[in-house]
Amino acid sequence: MPKILLEEKEIPTHYYNIAADLPFKIDPPLNPQTKQPIGPNDLARIFPMELIKQEVGLDRYVPIPEEVRNAYMLYRPTPLIRARRLELLLDTPAKIYYKNESVSPVGSHKLNTALAQAYYNKQEGVKRLATETGAGQWGSALSFACNLFGLECMVYMVKISFQQKPYRKILMQLFNGKIAASPSELTDYGRRVLKDDPENSGSLGIAISEAIEDAVNHEGTKYALGSVLNHVLLHQTIIGLEAKKQMENAGDYPDIVIGCHGGGSNFAGVSFPFLADKLSGKKKSLRAIAVEPTACASLTQGKYAYDFGDSAHMTPLMKMKTLGADFMPEKIHAGGLRYHGASPIVSALYENKIIEARALESQEALEAGVMFAKNQGIVPAPESTFAIKAAIDEALKCKAEGKSKTILFNLSGHGHFDMQAYADLMQYLPK
Ligand SMILES: *Cc1c(COP(=O)(O)O)cnc(C)c1O
Repeated sequence: MPKILLEEKEIPTHYYNIAADLPFKIDPPLNPQTKQPIGPNDLARIFPMELIKQEVGLDRYVPIPEEVRNAYMLYRPTPLIRARRLELLLDTPAKIYYKNESVSPVGSHKLNTALAQAYYNKQEGVKRLATETGAGQWGSALSFACNLFGLECMVYMVKISFQQKPYRKILMQLFNGKIAASPSELTDYGRRVLKDDPENSGSLGIAISEAIEDAVNHEGTKYALGSVLNHVLLHQTIIGLEAKKQMENAGDYPDIVIGCHGGGSNFAGVSFPFLADKLSGKKKSLRAIAVEPTACASLTQGKYAYDFGDSAHMTPLMKMKTLGADFMPEKIHAGGLRYHGASPIVSALYENKIIEARALESQEALEAGVMFAKNQGIVPAPESTFAIKAAIDEALKCKAEGKSKTILFNLSGHGHFDMQAYADLMQYLPK
């Protein structure tokens, strides 16, 4: 029985808020001018009140609105898979499970928060959302969610991806999203960047600045972010909450939970509900590992400091592991992992040694992705291959040590729009 499924009625009714259980304080975001903690009013121009409440809330459980649960029924609960064939291939005594978020209609976990964010904005009378996207996963998730709840969606897409990923662009347009290649002529900041450097191929930091400027300057428009912030991580805990029930149904519990790490949302989503047991003392030995690319290693190489979330320095200052708001990561196929910072909560968990992090080369991750694709029939998103590689490494360590451990990783998305990554790799893999 490799597939462990839940029924629709078992879709969680509440998100899990880890802030209620942290044994330390998270340093608050600061107003860059005054260096004082920002209040709800500072954020009200760009976020709806309910999301601001969730951003700072300390309730352990946050109810999921009925309309959002209904929308989740399009693809949730997602399957938990015991990868027995992979265990056999690796000849390991370890048990390997993965939560399959690639079954979401847009192909990744990002729809979990997009649906919630679109809903809360709609509830508060917002007409239009502005956002940024790198590889296009978040842009397509938010375009779809906005269309479902009757909002317009404006996406600033990093120019290099806009040029290299035409199919993600078409997917967003199909969901009624409006797209501009960033840096664009639509904002002051975009025009400024282009004036200095007409050939600028864009970055997530620049696109975020443009989207925030757009939201501030357009009546009825707010801004939406696809990772990093507390409320985004909160929504993603639906992954781990389901996985916990599924592991229980399988009569198992993970020793190690693994997620790839860009801004921290899918890693948080799969791991936080299990970390609740570590923090309460029930499962002290549980290990959670965030896996990032060496090309953009904010957790393992970054400083723990207050920094901006964007290039134009428009966001509040956040205390996080960061490579610097102006850091330009080298091009890797895993576009969703090219963000200079890490979520404040994940950063603090890492600094307090409650979670682990490791950095891997893109090439070794993608090769693990090929092995996984051949074995399981799912072509993983380049981002997800980092989690796969770490899971395989842990399983091989079990083999070397003759130990049987239970490993759970999150398959954050599929790679059907990233075939170029695999095409490039196949050139130099042995035939
Ligand atoms: C965006 C994305 C990521 C990275 O973002 P996190 O917030 O760290 O989860 C990982 N995998 C996929 C498929 C993505 O689209």
